[in-house]
Amino acid sequence: MNVPLLDLKAQYAAIRQDILRAVEGVMDTCQFIHGPQVKELEEAIARYCGCAAAVGVSSGTDALLCALMALEVGQPLPGGSAGAEVITTPYTFFATAGSIWRVGARPVFVDIDAGTYNIDPSKIEAAVTERTRAIMPVHLFGQVADMDPIMAVAQKHKLHVIEDAAQSIGSTYKNRKAGSIGTVGCFSFFPSKNLGCLGDGGMVVTQDPVLADRLAQMRNHGAKPKYYHKRVGGNFRLDTIQAAALLVKLPYLDGWSQARRRNAAQYDRLLAGYAPVKTPVIRAECQSIYNQYVIRVPQRDALQAFLKQEGIGTEIYYPVSMHQQECFAALGYKGGDFPESERAARETLALPIYAELTGEQIEYVVCKIRQFLG
Ligand SMILES: *Cc1c(COP(=O)(O)O)cnc(C)c1O
Repeated sequence: MNVPLLDLKAQYAAIRQDILRAVEGVMDTCQFIHGPQVKELEEAIARYCGCAAAVGVSSGTDALLCALMALEVGQPLPGGSAGAEVITTPYTFFATAGSIWRVGARPVFVDIDAGTYNIDPSKIEAAVTERTRAIMPVHLFGQVADMDPIMAVAQKHKLHVIEDAAQSIGSTYKNRKAGSIGTVGCFSFFPSKNLGCLGDGGMVVTQDPVLADRLAQMRNHGAKPKYYHKRVGGNFRLDTIQAAALLVKLPYLDGWSQARRRNAAQYDRLLAGYAPVKTPVIRAECQSIYNQYVIRVPQRDALQAFLKQEGIGTEIYYPVSMHQQECFAALGYKGGDFPESERAARETLALPIYAELTGEQIEYVVCKIRQFLG
């Protein structure tokens, strides 16, 4: 049996006609930049997330970058000193830390919770300094980070909170949607995310209409009006074609997430009480959208190689913690600084979880895991 990690063709086959019609609609009008579908999608996403406003951008990475620029996080601090700091997790996709670095700020890492793999809020306050400007929690694998204590620290120290919700659109924390809790929320529409477009795309959401206006300026070189620049922004625009495709897909999102939860529940059931495998920990106040279903196992690399041999696709998210990346050597971190993040990088493995996966495929995956681990 063949079980790929992800099967984008299965999803596409089900909505092919509507996608093609939507793309054709954009082609016919030739409004490739800021066509009406961009605004329509922004309104739909804002509504979906329970936010005041949404601003379409060119990727999840650019959503983070645009948010950091709009909040002037990299600008010199009052008194003129450089060296702004942003507190974040070392166990994430590179874009989180990379975007902080790119605005000239310093990523300050805080270790993760061993169960959820999200930033450990109890460790954040100790990392706050007079240079801290923001906290950037990541809602990893589809589960929202523990936001109440994060927001409490942020309020106490007057920090922005930039939610990296690239893996968590539609996920909830105490019935609030990912991205709607902090100062801004950033989404990615990379094809492998729960809501993927036809290439790269992203969105920033916020409850603050003034900030939304600033974000919209930043995505278009900071211009307002056209050709007049009070700030330096970039080209962070979302293509009309991407917005049109996303408008077709958005109504399916909750159904797809539901199917992922059903698949996760089947894995959970089949692996319950099986000591060698630790299944995902989802907190009671959270509903995950399972962008990934990540287990923790001994002999992770050998298991991955075996599963590959048996036709099963898996992925390691992520093999190297951010504080150990070569490009961040100047930050001065070393191995052992964030033991839970480093352990997760050694022990975790993502299994196929996409919506169209069948029960038989999941049984096969678990059967092969048990065959290997004994
Ligand atoms: C995917 C992802 C991003 C970046 O999104 P792109 O659309 O690929 O630029 C940022 N942060 C996290 C946690 C992600 O998973």
